[in-house]
Amino acid sequence: MIEFIETTKEFQVGTTVVTALNHINLTIQKGDVFGVIGFSGAGKSTLIRTVNLLEEPTSGRVLVNGKELTTLSKKQLREEKKNIGMIFQHFNLLRSKTVFENVAMPLVLSGIKKSKIEDQVSEVLAFVGLQDKAERFIDELSGGQKQRVGIARALVTKPTILLCDEATSALDPQTTKSILELLKRVNIEYGITILMITHEMEVIRDICNRVAVMENGKVIETGNVLEVFSSP
Ligand code: ADP
Ligand code: ADP
Repeated sequence: MIEFIETTKEFQVGTTVVTALNHINLTIQKGDVFGVIGFSGAGKSTLIRTVNLLEEPTSGRVLVNGKELTTLSKKQLREEKKNIGMIFQHFNLLRSKTVFENVAMPLVLSGIKKSKIEDQVSEVLAFVGLQDKAERFIDELSGGQKQRVGIARALVTKPTILLCDEATSALDPQTTKSILELLKRVNIEYGITILMITHEMEVIRDICNRVAVMENGKVIETGNVLEVFSSP
């Protein structure tokens, strides 16, 4: 579960202060596929980045499974972060490394045994359908395949939460469909809670059960997808 409680984030830009998040109150339940939609600049990216502390709130709190990450020790924080996977619009993969090496990276960094790494990487590569691409370099892959690698890397630490930052915005409609299908399976087969931000209504309609609409740093509406999108 993810709870935003009066979460506020301000950026100092020169002499002016930009309020990216303005007292956000929002709860994402375990098992949700929760979508946050809004125009560019609404605060979506900042919101999702406060969950794994890529951005630290200026005030207010963010609780992840009841824990406020800003209060943890470095060691506890490293453990908690394994619980939160993230995928990105532009994939954020290492081009000089193979598919296997990219997916293994989070495990290598946490000092896990080589044989265990091989097992876990093989398992997630099979899940995303890329077992035969393990030794390929990132530049040899299509956009959809790159995002599958991103998803595999996010899943390899066995998280309970997956954050998706405009994960299909760089993909064509057909590829978007297949990535959304895969995310559905992540939610259903692994029971992972998904929090995604997008500016595309279709993406929300396709896989989310709940949605929040953001505007100017505020949540202006929240509910289940049918309610919010069928209201007159
Ligand atoms: P969205 O993801 O909905 O496009 P963002 O969260 O990226 O919105 O941005 C919300 C507001 O915060 C925008 O006005 C943006 O310019 C500003 N902002 C985001 N990140 C920074 C930053 N690192 N420094 C200054 N301003 C930022
Ligand atoms: P995307 O829309 O692909 O997430 P953005 O251009 O919104 O990319 O943001 C890219 C990075 O720049 C993010 O780390 C964000 O926090 C930062 N950023 C966004 N707006 C600003 C801004 N006005 N000033 C400084 N940094 C910003």
